[in-house]
Amino acid sequence: MPVLWRCLILAWLLVATGCARAPASPSPLTVQALDAAWNTADRAQLPTDGPAWQPQPTPQLRWQTGSRWWRVRLDDPHARRDPGPWVLSLRETYDSPVQVYLPDGSPPRTLWLPDRHLDQPGSRLRLALPLTPAQRDGWIYLRLDWVRHQPVSLAAMPQARYLATDLDRIRFFYAVLAAMLALALMAAIFAMSMQRKALVLLSLWIACIALYHLGMSGELASLLPDLAQRLSPVSFASLALHLGLPLFYLFVYRFLAINRHFPRIARYYRGLLWVVVLLLLPELIGGFTPLMALVMNGLILLLSGLILVLSAQLARRGNRQGGFFLVGWGASTLVATLRAGYFQAHEGTPPWLELLHPTFDLIAAMILLVAVARAARYAEREMHLARRVARTDPLTGAANRAELDSTLPALLDHAQRSRQPLCVLFLDLDHFKSINDRYGHDMGDCCLVETAHWLSRHLRRHDLLARFGGEEFVAVLEGTDAGQAQTIADTLRTAIKRHCQTVNGQPVGLTLSIGIAQYLPGETPQELLRRADEALYRAKAEGRDRCMLAPTPLAS
Ligand code: GH3
Ligand code: MG
Ligand code: MG
Repeated sequence: MPVLWRCLILAWLLVATGCARAPASPSPLTVQALDAAWNTADRAQLPTDGPAWQPQPTPQLRWQTGSRWWRVRLDDPHARRDPGPWVLSLRETYDSPVQVYLPDGSPPRTLWLPDRHLDQPGSRLRLALPLTPAQRDGWIYLRLDWVRHQPVSLAAMPQARYLATDLDRIRFFYAVLAAMLALALMAAIFAMSMQRKALVLLSLWIACIALYHLGMSGELASLLPDLAQRLSPVSFASLALHLGLPLFYLFVYRFLAINRHFPRIARYYRGLLWVVVLLLLPELIGGFTPLMALVMNGLILLLSGLILVLSAQLARRGNRQGGFFLVGWGASTLVATLRAGYFQAHEGTPPWLELLHPTFDLIAAMILLVAVARAARYAEREMHLARRVARTDPLTGAANRAELDSTLPALLDHAQRSRQPLCVLFLDLDHFKSINDRYGHDMGDCCLVETAHWLSRHLRRHDLLARFGGEEFVAVLEGTDAGQAQTIADTLRTAIKRHCQTVNGQPVGLTLSIGIAQYLPGETPQELLRRADEALYRAKAEGRDRCMLAPTPLAS
């Protein structure tokens, strides 16, 4: 197993252990539910009389729909005697208001997590009801208007202990949330600089996931109280999740290149994606019916399963993107599915899963961002290489004709604007055909390679050397007037003469003829090259192995 994967799995285990740290053990509670026969709608008043209370096996309020009465008592005598303040915490009330009657006869209170005026110790990760000694000496009556199917878990403990744990939890939660938003921002910045649509999709998905966790945690009401008042945090979370999903599936489509690797499945994938988008519209307009929610959840499950299978297939074929995806997103899907499973089974989310879920989403986002950045860098390198190959002569490594044709106009333009001189050398090997004839074509090739090598060694860094075709080369010398160009040309000629007497042990005796032309403002590249070629022709005519300067129209 690669080291990276091993490190990731170790990191997960560490994170999972951290998130699953045993919470401070709460004081034992007795919880009773009012018998269903007594729990009628007209029973809006506190039902203190009547024998119909059912003991509950766990400190949880379990019910399906409608409103219902419960009563809770702290069993530990120490909890009753302790003079300090205590807290009764209610986890996973989400949108449900809770009506509370305390044993000290104080007026009933309604606690509601999204309430902007909610006055409670600590964060909004739970409802926290502070209790004075008198308020915990007897039955506490609770009435819940059930909006969700999850049971509400109860715990009682001294306020100081509750606040310490809550502070740990909320710090961790906001650290994860801040990291997610920072990642979303980073992905957006990368998207702009790299021009990658996949990164735009990833950035939006990470932001949606961060908003989902903000809604699910209840902290939305702390950060955006006005919004939480109008749109319940759970609806907000569900909307963020469902908006993020099509973006995510679209991202995966690009990231795993499903179109290219699985062309037949890609069609069905796109079809399912359209159904998800169409289903989103009714949610945006007025909310889901239970049937729609079921269809949506089924689709999400189907698409998630499909992309896991596809990424596993790709990983097996040695595709790195597939491997990254499987490692990054696999664990996060597992945790999300587990949470959805608890929800469907009407079980409460275990406390360790509360923080594990956003943490694994954060890890997934990080891995995917790294993977996309890596793929983008790889693609850029490939493109760079392809561009270099397209510009280079494969035999000699000098620039090719196409590169010369595309670069020379810009160089001339620059010379004209900066009023700097520029010269072009047209170089041609003498009697090259006879070398081919005598020593063979391969030897001719070696001579061309040697020539290009010695020419580029004697040219300056910023000079452009291109193979014009056959055994002809062109050098473009920026910032060089005719006099300097003549000196350089002569250096090149003598270098070839000296170093290429023999090539591969054969006495080829290479020599070079060079035509030089200085750029005249307003001249086209073709005109300039033609003048250099004419000068070369004269050098050939005058006996070869020499340099000849093209006359300028003024000098002629
Ligand atoms: P001159 O001194 O007048 O330039 O004579 P030359 O023989 O060098 O010129 P000519 O144009 O008659 O011949 C050029 C030869 O270059 C013809 C061709 O076989 C050879 N040639 C062109 N491209 C290549 C190549 O890529 N490899 C090899 N080995 N030979 C090439
Ligand atoms: Mg020649
Ligand atoms: Mg020639």
